[in-house]
Amino acid sequence: MDTTAHYYCAHCGEGNVVAVDIGGGTKQEYTEDCQVCCRPNVLTLRFEGNGSARLSAKQE
Ligand SMILES: [Zn+2]
Repeated sequence: MDTTAHYYCAHCGEGNVVAVDIGGGTKQEYTEDCQVCCRPNVLTLRFEGNGSARLSAKQE
């Protein structure tokens, strides 16, 4: 089961790695600031049946 996932910032395009926790559910949406440009990304996190995390980002 994945405990980290990565996304590409919707603002600057840089890769970010974040900790994820399936304890929050198999589908989660939350906002996190990019570690590079510090602008907010709305992240959609899904855990697939095999426990792998899929993360996508969009601008707030
Ligand atoms: Zn960024």
